[in-house]
Amino acid sequence: MIIDFHTHFYPEKVAPKAIEVCAGKIDAYSDGTRAGLEKSMCVAGIDLSVALTVVNAPENSASINAWAIRENRMPIISTGGIHPDEPDPLATLEAINAAGLPGIKLHPEYQRFKFDEERLFPVWERCEELGLFVVTHVGYDAMYEPPYLSDPEKLAEFHRRFPGLQLVLAHLGGMAMWDEVEKYLVGLPVYLDLAMATKEYITPGQLTRIIKNHGANRILFGSDSPWYDQTRQLKFIRSLPLTNEEQELIFYQNAAELLKI
Ligand SMILES: [Zn+2]
Repeated sequence: MIIDFHTHFYPEKVAPKAIEVCAGKIDAYSDGTRAGLEKSMCVAGIDLSVALTVVNAPENSASINAWAIRENRMPIISTGGIHPDEPDPLATLEAINAAGLPGIKLHPEYQRFKFDEERLFPVWERCEELGLFVVTHVGYDAMYEPPYLSDPEKLAEFHRRFPGLQLVLAHLGGMAMWDEVEKYLVGLPVYLDLAMATKEYITPGQLTRIIKNHGANRILFGSDSPWYDQTRQLKFIRSLPLTNEEQELIFYQNAAELLKI
């Protein structure tokens, strides 16, 4: 069984626009819809995908989470999301938890916030109490200019402040900041996903070293579909010198534990 812990899809009406906005900066490998993701999974041989939902504006939190809850059915598990500027993010967390979604996704660039903002501390405390994991984008993003609001050093600090929070750091803990990932994050008890840790962005040598030093028990397979091809990423990760045991953890066991399946 293979789980892709980092994918996206969009409502039918929004998908063409989402693909178009990024054209030229990031090419898409599906049409951005649920059907497109399911087709891609079939081709790649992926059994389950986690669709990460980002709340794009405070006023859209309720409708986006309602959509994520409706779409939370096999072979896709949806996360919910909060917007840091919405009036009552704690109420949103309760709704997400009551609906059985396993965690939330955030994007510091897109949502313009930092993890050291005290106004958000109650959110992280409540996620920890409810057992909701927090997935966040970290580092470079083709759609934004540096300096970035999140990086490996800042996320290491955040982890130290909330050590009980289940933290999943996308893009190996810092997109295109691999040396900083090795300096600040490797070895900490946080999950790193493999989305966009692709052969175009990282050498097999450095990626293998990061996985081995961090521990395969905290690495999650991810593709970032539709922004990268699931089949190609699966092939790349399988080509690394990993043991069967490490592959089993990365492709299935770690994700299954986080998703409580
Ligand atoms: Zn993504």
